[in-house]
Amino acid sequence: MDNNNKIANRANEKPYLSVVVPLYNEEGNAKELHKRIKDACQALGKSFEIIFVDDGSTDGTVKDCAGLTPLKLVRFRKNFGQTAAFDAGIKVATGEIVITMDGDLQNDPADIGLLLEEMDKGYDVVSGWRWQRKDTFMKKFFSRTANLLRKVLIKDRIHDSGCSLKAYKRECFQNVDLFGEMHRFIPAILELQGYRVGEVKVSHHPRVHGQTKYNWKRGLKGFVDMVEIWFWQKYSNRPLHLFGGGGIIFSFLGVAILIWMAIEKIFFGASLSEKIWPMVGTFLILVGIQLFVFGLLAGILIKTYYKNRQTMNYTIKEIRES
Ligand code: UDP
Ligand code: MG
Repeated sequence: MDNNNKIANRANEKPYLSVVVPLYNEEGNAKELHKRIKDACQALGKSFEIIFVDDGSTDGTVKDCAGLTPLKLVRFRKNFGQTAAFDAGIKVATGEIVITMDGDLQNDPADIGLLLEEMDKGYDVVSGWRWQRKDTFMKKFFSRTANLLRKVLIKDRIHDSGCSLKAYKRECFQNVDLFGEMHRFIPAILELQGYRVGEVKVSHHPRVHGQTKYNWKRGLKGFVDMVEIWFWQKYSNRPLHLFGGGGIIFSFLGVAILIWMAIEKIFFGASLSEKIWPMVGTFLILVGIQLFVFGLLAGILIKTYYKNRQTMNYTIKEIRES
């Protein structure tokens, strides 16, 4: 057994790197990936652990993993999705730095060193940027559009949030649980909490074994997730500003329209029975009130949310006493 393995396997001693990989029907990829990760970590001279999360594979993925060392294998009972797999893997990780990557050999473990180098510049998270992507035209097209939209809406300043190859300080995940398909937005979520997010160009390979697990539906889900993050980013601790503000504007418009109609009727003797405006005015007032009340309720919900989790909407880096 070589030195690095010994370090990684020594009981009670935490490794420096935890490499977390989700696997869903990746027969033919898992073994090779394990070897490449091991080689890359050993070349860096860092202690490491490899965590594979089998996301309910129905092919020979788990069999492929038999006999691989070192390996922590987390097995889901069924397919819960890539985000859940990342979350589970990250929660069993003990390393100081968590590296995530795809299990289909499209990300290159040899790039881990690049991520770590960038991290040394003072970042808490470093995201890979697949600047020369080896995917189909449609996939690249959708991904680029999504990235553009994300830049406008969320402003997280990185080019390629969907790249799974990323490095994190483990403390980043203290207050983060990943739901839905949120793993693509982890940098945005973390930036929101004040962590420093960097980026580095990484290589990308075409998929050789197995098939992609996603289709066009991902675009739709991604968009909805993006709107949710935008909301959290801007209004999570003050929902009334969004809903109440919108409500007041709507109601104000509605009242203005009704006043205008009243003036028309009283002073100019206009007939309102064939005009649509009285209805529009009433509609706007009602919608406005609804929105305002919704904002109040959202405020109450958010207060219970933070109370239940015993967290606040701010994060503290450290507390010094002297
Ligand atoms: N994956 C997973 N669960 C799923 C879908 C995907 O664990 O429900 C894993 C998959 O095995 C791979 C990674 O997530 O390691 C990325 O999936 P894929 O290559 O299909 O996505 P693409 O590269 O096409 O965006
Ligand atoms: Mg892939």
